[in-house]
Amino acid sequence: MSESDFLAAFGRLPSATADAAGRVNLMGEHTDYNGGRVLPTAIPGRTRVWLARRDDGRVQAGSAAVGGAVESYTLGAESPRGTWLDYLQGITAELVRGGQALSGLDLWIESDVPVGSGLASSAAFEIAVLRGLRALYGLLLDDLELARLGQRAETRFVGANVGIMDQMAAVFADEHTALLLDTRTLAFERVPLPDTLEIGVIDSGVRHAHASGGYNERREECERAAALLGVRSLCELSVDALPRVLELPEPLARRARHAITEHARVGAAADALRAGDGDALRALFTASHASQRDDFAVSVPEVDRLVSLALKDEDVVAARLTGGGFGGSIVFVASRGRAHTAALRVLDAAALPHARVVVPARASHG
Ligand code: ADP
Ligand code: MG
Repeated sequence: MSESDFLAAFGRLPSATADAAGRVNLMGEHTDYNGGRVLPTAIPGRTRVWLARRDDGRVQAGSAAVGGAVESYTLGAESPRGTWLDYLQGITAELVRGGQALSGLDLWIESDVPVGSGLASSAAFEIAVLRGLRALYGLLLDDLELARLGQRAETRFVGANVGIMDQMAAVFADEHTALLLDTRTLAFERVPLPDTLEIGVIDSGVRHAHASGGYNERREECERAAALLGVRSLCELSVDALPRVLELPEPLARRARHAITEHARVGAAADALRAGDGDALRALFTASHASQRDDFAVSVPEVDRLVSLALKDEDVVAARLTGGGFGGSIVFVASRGRAHTAALRVLDAAALPHARVVVPARASHG
């Protein structure tokens, strides 16, 4: 279907295609830029790109998710416009800076990862584009370099000071396991998702225009707290350090308490998944949600409402805000085969105009 969209946009057929998945984080919110662990798993939604080379140094690109208008720029002359094109410009700027000999590009993008919902559409976009460019130009880049390049495009060019969880998940996560990732060393292990349980995701439909500003502000608060505590990153500290942490001025004390307790919950959540322990998951998800809401102040009333309705549902085991917050999605755990109907009940009760079920896309039997 989209070879024909590429043809319509550029008057020829593409010569390469690639894709990458969105992710939902099961535990470890705002820990990735604090040197902590995270626990994402891939969602079925993917971003796919179609590409062909040009020889005139120009980049032309269109994305169905943002209206499909073709935009263009010259390689090596990337400059921020404050639009979606910055994610692409950031990638080519990083590749050109790294000495990769690109000669131009036509690019068409389609995605069924919800955009701006805390499910890492930006990383899926970056990694799909990077995989496509690697195939198109035969670039000698390993998977870890793709993740680092994607993150640098976002931090240096787009100006969102993100950690590396989303890009690592887009490169390495799959739908059957959770990726227990140490963001300090980038070592990871795959934790199987239990046969008895199923993951669900509901997008609240709420997006805050100041989300990236709020994100960068949280990151700065964490850096200030770490400096005052004499550590390079907050997740070096265990919960034993909390009495000292709580002597920090507010809001730094609460921000640091979130990072430290959330980090401790990641390992515990991985253990609970391995054991298929729904009671432990419920306690951990509930504590994580409260910490994001009260200590880190990244939840919104609509998301709180979805979480509390989910927790009242008979088939829901655990629920929490997932992703960077300031709107976005909830992740929940349900009995296997029950997540879709549970999500529909929650949606119905919540009566939020733009909320929708993202995962599972339909009821499964299993
Ligand atoms: P998230 O990554 O959680 O979805 P972000 O704010 O990090 O939210 O990234 C969303 C931005 O990424 C969009 O506003 C857009 O600029 C860009 N983006 C993501 N997916 C696409 C896409 N398929 N086409 C064009 N731009 C995209
Ligand atoms: Mg993102």
